[in-house]
Order: sequence, then structure tokens, then C-alpha cells
Amino acid sequence: MSRALSRHAPERDAASRPTVPFRQFIVKVHGRCNLACSYCYVYAGPDHTWRDRPAATPPAVLARTVDRIAEHAAAHRLPRVSLVLHGGEPLLAGAERLADLTRGLRARLAPDCAVHAVVQTNGTLLTARRIDLLADAGIRVGVSLDGGLARHNAARVDHAGRPAWPAAVRGARLLAAHRPEAYAGVLAVVNTRQDPVETYESLLSLDPPALDLLLPDGNWSAPPPGMRTGGEESTPYGDWLAAVFDRWWHAPRRETRIRLFEECVALLLGRPAATEALGLAPFDAVVVETDGAIEQADALKSAYHGAAATGLDVFRHSFEDALAHPPIADRQRGADTLAAECRSCAVLAVCGGGQYAHRYRAGRGFLNPSVYCADLRRFIRHVHRRLAEVSRRPPATAVEDRTP
Ligand code: SF4
Repeated sequence: MSRALSRHAPERDAASRPTVPFRQFIVKVHGRCNLACSYCYVYAGPDHTWRDRPAATPPAVLARTVDRIAEHAAAHRLPRVSLVLHGGEPLLAGAERLADLTRGLRARLAPDCAVHAVVQTNGTLLTARRIDLLADAGIRVGVSLDGGLARHNAARVDHAGRPAWPAAVRGARLLAAHRPEAYAGVLAVVNTRQDPVETYESLLSLDPPALDLLLPDGNWSAPPPGMRTGGEESTPYGDWLAAVFDRWWHAPRRETRIRLFEECVALLLGRPAATEALGLAPFDAVVVETDGAIEQADALKSAYHGAAATGLDVFRHSFEDALAHPPIADRQRGADTLAAECRSCAVLAVCGGGQYAHRYRAGRGFLNPSVYCADLRRFIRHVHRRLAEVSRRPPATAVEDRTP
């Protein structure tokens, strides 16, 4: 699962709505996985659309997707596009195929349009030969884990229930040692049952150049693990993130990049953000499924069956058509489409209402604060305090509670 999504400033105005072109193309190169993680939003969540889609993405879908990306990049004169090779487990498609797809896209784009390609894998299928094929094609490799110890990864098992950890850690270590320049980092979902500092330090032992810490899928109707959504306010996820932040922030040297933390600091300093998790910048990522369907971000699948669907596909529709799709257009309108609580919130400029999928409540849709609202406030204010401790002037973005 890769959800580290880039965002950029609006570049044009259409019907009074600021819109940005898509710059991140998440291509499902294989629709199945060799693992069966118990919390997977694709195979264990409420969305079952994967069952009716091809397992292996047909060559015609990949070719048409390349055409559509090239068309979009040319129309918007994009200086770069991000290609995220995703699944299921993308290496089930074969490393050669991923290399061919990436080289094919580069050949179709203008010479001054760069392709930043990354494959997000569970790591179990990484071999020296596959890593070489990917690295030589300019594809960086991100590995998804739940921590850096076997017991952190107990939910990551294959279809026979055998632990994925031995193969995954072997793959991550091989990647770090064999082609470190192709190592994009590790993506881990926060587990508040695990000690935060132990989790962070165990992940550091895998030498990741960057860490993506994701909040688990969840919403008001299906709360994340360990969260109470009524009565007394608790902030288990905010507390967990704050503990890791302090360990990272106070280290004598910068041991790795943690995108969530860097984005929070940047937003507090008044700079733009670059992830889906925080901030108000327009969303610029789109998904192409194995049957060619154009969809919204994968995390929406955790809300309800078909939540990510647009009714569009690469054979009949351009990405320009997808930009005009109402839910996608809405997600480019910043605070205008947020709940009233968010629009009057003291930390709005940093929080941005949280990740879209986390706002869902059955019967009310997405016009709600994030289910992580209290945790986000807790974490953002914690980072604000740490910044204030080291700067003579307070951070540019005020986050104090303005409620009487
Ligand atoms: S902290 Fe809560 S109310 Fe404030 S912007 Fe985030 S989700 Fe909305």
C-alpha cells in the first residue's frame, strides 16, 4: 500500500474551482497478493471490487494507461510525473514488466518531463536480480512492514497462515545492502499496541532512507483499533506519534526522514505540504485498476463497497475527464468542502481535516472531521511546542484553541 501522495499549488482556475492536474499515477500492475494480512483494506475490507477484476493487468490496460498519462502530461506541460507501481503485490507482475512499463512511459513523455517511479512491495519477493532489474530501470523500491521485529508483523501472513516476516526482512536488508540508491524507504501502519519508540528503532535497523507512518484505516462507523468515538476523549494515536516524534526530533543526528513529521513541521512553518495526510493543498493522485477503471485513492475502499469508483476507465475517458468527476473536483477545493467543525478549527491549516477516508460516517458521507480529530490536534500541538522550544519566533501557523 502506498499512500504517500504529492500535492502542489493550483495552476489554473476552472469554473471558479482551483484545480491541479494529476501528477501521481497509481497503477495497479497486479490485482492479487501473495500475502493475506488480516487488516488489508483491499482484500479484508468492505470493498469487494477486486474479485471481479483481472488478477494480472492485461497489456492493453497498461499500454492505454501510458497513453493517457502521456496525454495528460503533455496537455499540462508537466515537468515530472510520479508513477506508483502498486497492487496487490506488484512484483507478482514480474520485475521485467515493471521495468518495461516504466521505460515505455519515459519514451512516451516529452524529454523535459521526468518520471519518478516507485514500486510499493511487501518485500517478500525481492531478489538481487529483481532489485537490479528495477534499479536499472530507475524504479525505487518501498517496502511495507508493520515494524522491524517479527512480533510487530504477526498480522502479515501468507495464504496458508505462515509469517511473511522472514522473507520480508530478508528482502528489505538485501535492498539496503545491494542497491541502496534504489531503496525508497519503509511504509508502516501505526499500531498503538506496539511500543512507539521500540517500533521506530526497530525500523531504523533496516536502514530506511525514509519512513511513512500511516494511521490505520478507520472512520466514524468503523473506528480504528483501540479508539473510542464517544464520551471521554483519548488520543492513543496522537500520543504514539508524539512519542516517536520526540525520539526522532531529539536524536543527535537525523537518522531517517519521516514524511508525516517533516510535513507537519513544514506546515507549521507556513510552507506547503506534500502528503495526503495533512494540509489543505489540492489532491493530485489517481488510481488505475487492473481492468483500466479510473478510481480515487485506494484508502476510500475502507469506507464502503465501491467508494473509490468513478465510473470512468482509461479506454473511454481521459484523466481530464477524471479531474471533472465531482468527488475528485471537490477534493481540490480545500477548506470549502470540509465540515463546519474543521473550517473553524485552530489547527485546520496543518491538519486539513485529516485523510479523506477517515472522515466517513455511514448516512452522513464524508462531511465530518477526521475520526482521528483529537489525535491530530494532540500531535500537531505537540510538534508546535517542540518547534517553539527551538525557535526565537513562534511557528508561522498558530494552533492554539480559539474556542471561548
Ligand atoms: S483537528 Fe479535527 S476539526 Fe480540526 S481540522 Fe483536523 S479533523 Fe477538522
